Amino acid sequence: MEKEAMAYKKLENNYVKCNLCPRLCIIKDGKRGVCRVRENRGGTLFTLIYGLTTAESIDPIEKKPLFHFWPGSDTYSISTLSCTFSCPWCQNWEISQASPGEVYAYELRSDEVVKRAIQSRSLSISYTYNEPLLWYEFVYDTSKLAKENRLQNILVTNGYITKEALLPLVNFIDAANVDIKGFTEQFYRTYCKGDLESVLSATKLMKKEGVHIEVTNLIIPDINDSPDEIKQLSIWIRDNLGKDCPLHFSRFFPHYKMVDRPPTPFETLLKAKKIAEEEGLQFVYIGNIPGEGENTYCPNCKNLLIRRIGFDVLKVDLSEENKCSKCGFKINIVGKANVRTFGRWF
Ligand code: SF4
Repeated sequence: MEKEAMAYKKLENNYVKCNLCPRLCIIKDGKRGVCRVRENRGGTLFTLIYGLTTAESIDPIEKKPLFHFWPGSDTYSISTLSCTFSCPWCQNWEISQASPGEVYAYELRSDEVVKRAIQSRSLSISYTYNEPLLWYEFVYDTSKLAKENRLQNILVTNGYITKEALLPLVNFIDAANVDIKGFTEQFYRTYCKGDLESVLSATKLMKKEGVHIEVTNLIIPDINDSPDEIKQLSIWIRDNLGKDCPLHFSRFFPHYKMVDRPPTPFETLLKAKKIAEEEGLQFVYIGNIPGEGENTYCPNCKNLLIRRIGFDVLKVDLSEENKCSKCGFKINIVGKANVRTFGRWF
């Protein structure tokens, strides 16, 4: 469905300036922005993807990944198409690099999404799989309605949004996993066609506005795996999001246009975890490899607080107030943690 866009300005001669992402496209009448889903028609900017849905699924919240937000709960996941970035390793490139009409998609209303989330017994709705900030108008309306129905709202995002657009939306957002893909401007310019500073500013703003933040960093061999880059990322998280902000180092697998290198060696991920912990981060995880790197330990006494395998939660050892049951240390976890397993690990 097409709908007049939010976050834009009308200019002279039927031009418009889109203020949604930091690209700030100036769009001529009849043309689209770089993202291919916002079109100028006679001096009015339209989103072409309002309600246009490519996938729906009930996911474990650990899959987002969010390890410190209602652990063990289900989240109702929905997506549309396109992205503000064009990363050559994208795992969901079939939808993220598509324009309207190029992939199968169907229309949903906000009230249908909310109803389905409630019927599925999910605690939250996740806007995920492709870049949800580009689905701005639909995410805004749906998350507002979801809040009215006591559902939580989650963004799984590249964080590429302007302050002007983020501020009205953030009122309805409870948690976000922000993918900080690298830690140099050159990396963002070369591979994402975006900029690091805008991502960091938006992430800080979400934190300031009370959104629970977790960070994912996909480590790609020979591209963003230098110890110094990992160290700088860790220092930034510690100083701007707090030492208790969960950081997920994720393993790269060859995908899409980047098939010229092997998966990230396990040793590289372990080294990254060690560097981040040396810089003071308390909750550093290793993703895309089931095992030890998924567990939560008490930063104070090292008690095993949450044992995970894959997306299952096998054990929880926290008090009602999310304190370590052994030493009483307060853990940065939002909501109650529950065991959830399909039993295949026993
Ligand atoms: S969302 Fe970004 S890329 Fe798309 S039209 Fe707006 S400014 Fe351009």
